[in-house]
Order: sequence, then C-alpha cells, then structure tokens
Amino acid sequence: MAARRSNDDEGRALRVRVTELEARVRWLEQKLKKVALAAKVKPEPSPKGPQRPRCPSCFGEVPKGQRERVCLYCGFNFDVVAPIRARRPR
Ligand SMILES: [Zn+2]
Repeated sequence: MAARRSNDDEGRALRVRVTELEARVRWLEQKLKKVALAAKVKPEPSPKGPQRPRCPSCFGEVPKGQRERVCLYCGFNFDVVAPIRARRPR
C-alpha cells in the first residue's frame, strides 16, 4: 500500500514551497531591475553584415529578390520615393 501524506503534511509542504518561490521571485525581480538598468546604459549593438534595404514607411526589411515595387508588409509603393538601393551581383 502506498503511504499517503496527511492533509496537514501537504499543507505544510505547500507553504514551504510557496515561501521558497516567493523568495525566488523577489530575488529574480531584483536581478531583473539590475539587468534593466544595465540595458538602459548600454548603447544599441550595431548590426552585423550588410543591411537589407528597408521600407521607408514601416521600416520592414525588403526581402532578397523581391520584384514588386510595393512593400510586403504595409503596401507602401517604393516608386513614390527615391529608388532603394538593392545590392545586385553581376
Ligand atoms: Zn512597409
């Protein structure tokens, strides 16, 4: 027969777990505050590699090989502004 813990024992065990979890949450919140502070101070990392041209309206990246002169995301017509520089090998 499997030994069953009484309701009293379970209640005590749960209270212990809750206390532990509360302590961990508090610790994590403090750590998160420090991380958020550090993140505010640091400058944005510069993107690596050549960047794809972006839509002047929604700043979405224009996918490689796109032939349409209209933004995939917002429908902005690229022909109404200066032509976007797309790197074309050859
Ligand atoms: Zn767009």
